[in-house]
Amino acid sequence: MKSRAEELKNIIGQTFDLCVIGGGATGSACALDAQLRGIRTVLMEAGDYAGATSSAATKIIHGGVRYLEEAIKGADVQEYHVLVRALHERVRMLENAPHLTRKLEFLVPSYKWIDVAYLDIGLKIYDWLAGPGRISPSKFLSEEETLKRMPGLNQKGLVGGVAYADGQFDDARYNVTLVQSFTVAGGNAINYGRVTDFQRGADGKITGVVVKDQLTGAMFTVSVKAVVNATGPLSDSIRQLATPAVPRRMRPSKGAHILLPLDVFPTEDALLIPKTEDGRVLFAVPWCGRLLVGTTDEEVEAGAELLVTKSDIEYMLRHLNHYLARPVTPDDVVSGFAGARPLVGSGEEGGDTKKLARDDVIEVDAASGLISIMGGKWTTHRAMAEDTIHTVQGALGVTQTDSQTRNHVLYGGVGFTDDYWKQLCRDKAISEATAHHLASKFGTASGEVVALARENAALLEPIVAGYPAIQTEVVYAVRKEMAATIEDVLARRVGLQLYSWRAAIEAAPVVGSLMAAELQWSDGTTKAAIAGYVERINHLLDSAGLPRKRTSATAD
Ligand SMILES: Cc1cc2nc3c(=O)[nH]c(=O)nc-3n(C[C@H](O)[C@H](O)[C@H](O)COP(=O)(O)OP(=O)(O)OC[C@H]3O[C@@H](n4cnc5c(N)ncnc54)[C@H](O)[C@@H]3O)c2cc1C
Repeated sequence: MKSRAEELKNIIGQTFDLCVIGGGATGSACALDAQLRGIRTVLMEAGDYAGATSSAATKIIHGGVRYLEEAIKGADVQEYHVLVRALHERVRMLENAPHLTRKLEFLVPSYKWIDVAYLDIGLKIYDWLAGPGRISPSKFLSEEETLKRMPGLNQKGLVGGVAYADGQFDDARYNVTLVQSFTVAGGNAINYGRVTDFQRGADGKITGVVVKDQLTGAMFTVSVKAVVNATGPLSDSIRQLATPAVPRRMRPSKGAHILLPLDVFPTEDALLIPKTEDGRVLFAVPWCGRLLVGTTDEEVEAGAELLVTKSDIEYMLRHLNHYLARPVTPDDVVSGFAGARPLVGSGEEGGDTKKLARDDVIEVDAASGLISIMGGKWTTHRAMAEDTIHTVQGALGVTQTDSQTRNHVLYGGVGFTDDYWKQLCRDKAISEATAHHLASKFGTASGEVVALARENAALLEPIVAGYPAIQTEVVYAVRKEMAATIEDVLARRVGLQLYSWRAAIEAAPVVGSLMAAELQWSDGTTKAAIAGYVERINHLLDSAGLPRKRTSATAD
């Protein structure tokens, strides 16, 4: 990726075949698919790449066991379609970004024999639907085998369990890597560039987008032949910007997650709790040295502030603790995050959001020509983009060509093997923990990250003691990944904000001063950026009902 300043020069006042609005999973995948088909594309993101829903997923690459039950019980063809497509797309995600994904076994412990039988049959159907996309066959586990794999389980009444395979991924890094891959393919992208209006021809069709640079306040325009609206939960705002009379379709639903120290429930497998009191499933998944627990489901207004609340934490722990030998308390929570599912309805129905299918919808607005891609899941982002760009080719009046993304290995994935980290340890002066961390975040591009320390060996120092991320990642994030704020670095590029809110607060001054040197921030700007970030994390702690962390940045 070029720097933001360079990229702005390449975009302002230019003409593109296609503008994709929204740099989440869906928009970034659309941009990559279009550019690889030779469509000159610009990607506009109002905040940071993955700054909204796409870094707030449970990080599971899955068909969805819950959707299987709903497809069968409700004889629901739409749910069946979502499930089968996602089962096949799992394999493409695993193969196209081997550094950011891994296979993961999920265990469903059972306390009644009837449940074991029910699950066993259901998961055999899951395997069968996956066909050649099956990761590994599901299997019954005895009580002893279940406890061997999850020694922290509540043993009282346990009869056994069922294990099945899905995948796990790093959502924020996967998203940034999609954008990186798009720019390598020749596309242009900008973050902190909000589309605020459209320009139109005499026939009312969109001919250009008006963009506000959120960092400077400057306005600029870009001429375009087609526009894709991939703004997730905010899709209605762009649909209504194009044609104010269109009815709303989005039914955003908040989902919260918390992270706990992994030693509260040591396991290499994921735990699936098959039924919560409101009829959902809950996951507890090992994730980057933590236990990631989620999620909730609560309808919200589009654009609402999404915070993990004290009651979200109580809800998740109440269900998790049924399954644990040693209960967890809210004080164990080290961080959390929440996002809004971009659920899409017909515009008329009410009722529970958990009953809305996770399918996607492509809509072409006849009046303006705007193409909106709404709904879907992370797991199906590539297939959604493939279908959307077919529609774009129709709108551009060009011959429909095949998508090139099915086997397109993303940036840092070429040449990656599971033991790539060993090479990093051998060739570069870094610890084993840092080598593992870099390999899982940057893949074979890790060498580029470490090479920046040739300018200054101190950049090989950790960002904060006790965590494997090193300072050179901050410089790389600014120069090569368009990070513009401390949160861009800590939440989405490095991941420290997920590991620990408190450690992220400690890291803020180091990250702030490294960014200041790169972006020529004044002392005042740097201090304000650090204090603002610390306040933001303390606000997250407040909402979660956890004590604030005081630092020199907050002392007065
Ligand atoms: C709690 C939760 C758990 C989930 N877990 C999983 C999971 O485990 N596996 C899975 O497959 N899926 C999961 N999902 C679903 C998945 O995360 C989403 O389907 C996906 O991230 C949606 O991506 P998106 O690009 O459509 O939306 P977003 O990521 O929200 O991206 C839309 C982007 O548009 C930008 N934008 C908005 N307005 C403008 C404008 N005017 N100009 C420019 N840009 C604009 C926004 O800033 C935003 O970045 C989960 C979702 C949630 C909420």
